[in-house]
Amino acid sequence: MKTIILKVNADRPEKSKIRAAAKIIREGGLVAFPTETVYGLGANALDPKAVRRIFAAKKRPLDNPLIIHIADKADVYWLADKIPKDADKLMDLWPGPLTLVLKASDIIPKETRGGLSTVAIRMPNHKVALALIRESEVPIAAPSANLAGRPSPTTAEHVKQDLDGKIEMILDAGPTRIGVESTVIDLTSESPQILRPGGLTYEELKRILGDVRLHPSAIADRRVNLKYAPSPGMRHKHYSPEAQLIIVEGELNAMINKIQELVGLYRGKGRRVGILATDETQRSYHGAYVVKSLGSREDPSSMARNLFKLLREFDEEKVDIIIAEGVPMKSLGLAVMNRLRKASGFNIVKAN
Ligand code: AMP
Ligand code: MG
Repeated sequence: MKTIILKVNADRPEKSKIRAAAKIIREGGLVAFPTETVYGLGANALDPKAVRRIFAAKKRPLDNPLIIHIADKADVYWLADKIPKDADKLMDLWPGPLTLVLKASDIIPKETRGGLSTVAIRMPNHKVALALIRESEVPIAAPSANLAGRPSPTTAEHVKQDLDGKIEMILDAGPTRIGVESTVIDLTSESPQILRPGGLTYEELKRILGDVRLHPSAIADRRVNLKYAPSPGMRHKHYSPEAQLIIVEGELNAMINKIQELVGLYRGKGRRVGILATDETQRSYHGAYVVKSLGSREDPSSMARNLFKLLREFDEEKVDIIIAEGVPMKSLGLAVMNRLRKASGFNIVKAN
C-alpha cells in the first residue's frame, strides 16, 4: 500500500484534504492525524474491522484498548453509560489533553474496548483532528501512531518511520504542541483515579476535583503487580528506543556524578553512550558520544515537547546506551518521568 502524505494547514485545515481523509475513515481505512498531544492513528471507532487494522498496523496487543476521539461533547451520552457528575466538570476542560474512562455503552465494539466493559473518550484540541472527526461523521478510535512499544510520534516524519506502507494516509500539520499523550482518568471507581499522567496536570485535576488518586502505574517508579490492572495496557512495554535506557534519579550533583561514573564504565566497555541531560546540566559531562538537552528543569512543558523526538534521535545516531537524568515530577514533569521510567523498563538508578 502506498501511504499518501498530505501537508495540512494547522490553523485553517484545507477542506479538500480533510474531505479526502474523512472518506478513507468512512470506508474503513486508517489515517494518521495530528492532535495537540501526539499524532494519532485513526479509524472508525464503531467499525470492528477498521479497528482491527489499527492493532495490526501498530502490532499492538489486542487487550490494549483505544481512546475514542470526538468533536462534540454530546457524543459522550451515547458512547458511554452511567456518566457520573465529575465527568461534566471534566468535560468543561475539553477540547484538551484529558481522556475520561467511563462505562461503555452497548454500541462500542469489543475491539475498541480491548475487551473491557469501559470506554476511553476525549476531545482533542487541534483544528485538524476536530475537522477530520466532524467530516467523517463517526467517532474516531486513535492510539498513538507509532509501532507498539516505540516512542510516540510528535511529527509526521515519526509516523512515516513506523507506519509507511501500512496505512492509507498521514495528515502532516507540523510538530505537536504538548508532546506527551493525554492524561487518562478513570471515573468508574469510587473516586477518580489517574491511570496515566499526561498533558493535563495532576495539580490541575486536584484543583478541579478536590479528591483524585494516582494509580501506582502512573508514578511508575517500579514495576507494579498488575494482575488487577484497570487498564491492561499498563502491562505492556512502552515508549522504548532501541538503545538501552537507564534513568538516574536523585539530588542534582549526586545525579551528575553518578551519570559521569556510568559514562566511564560503559565507555570502557566500548559502548556508544548518549546522555539525556537538561539545559542546566548539559555542560557538566565529558566523554559521552552525544549529550542532548531535554529542555530547562524550570520548564516542564519544554521537556515534555522534546522527549519522544530526542529518544528517536538517539536511535538514529546508533547510540547503544542512553543515560537520562530524572527531572522534577511537578506539572508535566510527572508525565515525562512516567514515560522515561516505563521506556527504561524500570531500569532506575538512585544516586545519593
Ligand atoms: P495510546 O493512545 O496509544 O497512548 O493508548 C491509549 C491509552 O489509553 C492506553 O494506555 C490504554 O490502556 C488507555 N485506555 C484506553 N481505553 C481504556 C479503558 N477503557 N480503560 C482504561 N484505560 C484505557
Ligand atoms: Mg501509545
